[in-house]
Amino acid sequence: MNAHLKEKVDQFMAQVKAKNQGEKEFHQAVEEVVESLIEFVEENPKYKDARILERMTEPERVIIFRVPWLDDNGVTQVNRGFRIEMNSAIGPYKGGLRFHPTVNLGILKFLAFEQVFKNSLTSLPLGGGKGGSDFDPKGKSDNEVMKFCQSFMTELFRHIGPDTDVPAGDIGVGGREIGFMFGQYKRIKNEFTGVLTGKGIDWGGSLIRPEATGYGQVYFADEMLKTRNDSFKNKICVVSGSGNVAQFATEKVNELGGKVVTLSDSSGYIHDPAGIDKEKLEYVMWLKNVKRGRIKEYADKYGCEYVEGKTPWGVKCDVALPSATENELNLDDAKTLIDNGCFVISEGANMPSTPEAVEYFIEKKVLYGPGKAANAGGVATSGLEMSQNSMRLPWGREEVDGRLHEIMINIHKTCVKYGKNDDGTINYVKGANIGGFIKVADAMIAQGLV
Ligand code: NDP
Repeated sequence: MNAHLKEKVDQFMAQVKAKNQGEKEFHQAVEEVVESLIEFVEENPKYKDARILERMTEPERVIIFRVPWLDDNGVTQVNRGFRIEMNSAIGPYKGGLRFHPTVNLGILKFLAFEQVFKNSLTSLPLGGGKGGSDFDPKGKSDNEVMKFCQSFMTELFRHIGPDTDVPAGDIGVGGREIGFMFGQYKRIKNEFTGVLTGKGIDWGGSLIRPEATGYGQVYFADEMLKTRNDSFKNKICVVSGSGNVAQFATEKVNELGGKVVTLSDSSGYIHDPAGIDKEKLEYVMWLKNVKRGRIKEYADKYGCEYVEGKTPWGVKCDVALPSATENELNLDDAKTLIDNGCFVISEGANMPSTPEAVEYFIEKKVLYGPGKAANAGGVATSGLEMSQNSMRLPWGREEVDGRLHEIMINIHKTCVKYGKNDDGTINYVKGANIGGFIKVADAMIAQGLV
């Protein structure tokens, strides 16, 4: 980037930082996007004159609320609830709810901001939003989780609706939590509508929605591999996390002939050089989704290595699939991965790589798919769930999976269109940011000062 553009980015970021003090993840997400877009915006005065970037970095609406609930000992607990309604230029706000003790305004604003670009890339009519709470479902009984979810929805219901804002799951919010929140919404509104996605299959959910983010992440990596006439066959893959995204990424890698050798949680990682096959993955799903135990128990059961307190990036691999959380992969990790021969990174988590790691991947010209492109399969399939709810007609597994696959292929094409370098390599960060921006920016201009 030349000095003039760098100065523009710095000026823009100074304003963002002054207006959103202390929200470091939001600053990080905005800076990455602005660095990719500044040249494009400077060359296209219609975006510059309409101050689209300034408008896109200001949420349309932020809702913060108290969530009181009674624990199993009859003690009153208080959490904080949030919903960021970031941008509705191309459709109702759409994005997940995260329940995790680290949740704060800055984290949710970064996620909502990323969501706007991601949703645009899917080519479906979805605006961007995100929400959640600092509530920690870990260690809570089902009854306590239900009490919390009911209280959370008792406030949230007045801000959402199938044509207004349609939340889904994220970290700490899976089928159980969506069920409790959907039940409460239905009870208050006396309406059975598609107000949440990720619903159970017998009550408005879509086939393939649980699988979608992990499957999509692997489909995207497969498209990146194809640009080098390569495939997943016999590829060694390192996966972080062991939740929804990590589980189904592992399943799809196995289907495509690769081998996943690690999984992790916030306590540490397991390394199983023999590979996490179908049977072992079934155990992981039971361990994490039913027993709600720790990944260490996998190592105890299968007699493999468990490394406490570390991330898995030191394990030799061809493909890395970060699928746990933001900033889980730093510059040292990026260097180790590449020194060990890794040449594909496809992000299932949102912003898992630090800015320095991203810069290194781009400099080394490896196949690096940023989360807003590579993990868009989850929200895309949520969009397909909304379509089925509106039609009141469920689609079969092949139909939904086929559409998901096609959407991921198209997102990859968009990244190539806007991110191709002069030497033929692809900067997927630039491609995803410009590709996601244009549709939203044009809609904002068409709709006047909104
Ligand atoms: P889950 O709650 O199902 O799983 C999260 C996994 O990440 C768990 O293994 C968890 O370990 C680990 N983890 C969470 N926080 C941390 C942390 N601070 N440090 C280390 N490990 C951590 O969430 P999902 O699988 O749904 O989400 C994973 C990522 O994918 C998130 O970044 C999310 O935003 C992103 N994503 C999810 C989508 C979806 O459809 N679910 C869609 C698009 C993106 P532990 O159990 O110890 O907390």
